[in-house]
Amino acid sequence: VLAIEGVHKRFGEHPVLRGIDLDVAKHEVVVLIGASGSGKSTLLKTVNLLEQVDDGRILLAGDDITDPRADADAVRARIGVVFQHYNLFPHLNAIDNVTLADRKVFGTPRAEAERKGRALLERIGLSDKAGEYPDRLSGGQQQRVAIARAIATDPELLLLDEITSALDPQLVGEVLDLVRELKDAGSTIVMATHEMSFARAVADRVVYLKDGVIIESGPPEQIFAHPEREETREFLRRLH
Ligand code: ATP
Ligand code: MG
Repeated sequence: VLAIEGVHKRFGEHPVLRGIDLDVAKHEVVVLIGASGSGKSTLLKTVNLLEQVDDGRILLAGDDITDPRADADAVRARIGVVFQHYNLFPHLNAIDNVTLADRKVFGTPRAEAERKGRALLERIGLSDKAGEYPDRLSGGQQQRVAIARAIATDPELLLLDEITSALDPQLVGEVLDLVRELKDAGSTIVMATHEMSFARAVADRVVYLKDGVIIESGPPEQIFAHPEREETREFLRRLH
């Protein structure tokens, strides 16, 4: 579904991504780990075209989305995104947040979009909150609505960036359960997280990024139990 090929990105003189190659297969869940500043968010932003690559290219289902002629809005319509916070429109209630893109970007009639939206709220266990505004939802509920909004348009790819890091510990579980459910339902996900337990539980593949370079990538058992590279071992040691 996604092919990142030789991607470089620098901010001024500071190289942040230094030759990233990463393929993500359909239905695969890839989790990016690495120290703060290693380039995880920047990589996700290049995929969503929030940052331009300096070199290399990114293909989404074979389409070169980094081609300057690519239509950024059309590309973003194919990708669902959830960030750490400020995901929901504060002036819209839950159901309108979930259905907005479907109605405005895809032109789905309101009745149909709302039928889908209510089914999604049901699926995330918030059918009774359809009329609530974000400031009346808990952080965990807000993130679940944000995830529902991200999947409302059936994106080909879901990008999740530290979606639990602003949450109280007791709310983390409900968001992570939802991600696990999306995985089981066949979503293709690239996610950055500092939650190693979650990376371990949900990832098909874990990618360890250091200073804008992929040091090691493999199934969670390899990365967490039998890392091959000394840098990976060092990173994991420091977490304890
Ligand atoms: P964290 O785990 O803290 O979220 P990260 O791995 O997501 O870190 P990035 O946000 O990708 O790291 O940042 C990588 C580097 O790029 C950092 O040194 C950061 O300061 C720098 N950077 C990110 N965005 C910009 C920007 N818009 N302008 C200048 N520098 C930036
Ligand atoms: Mg980040």
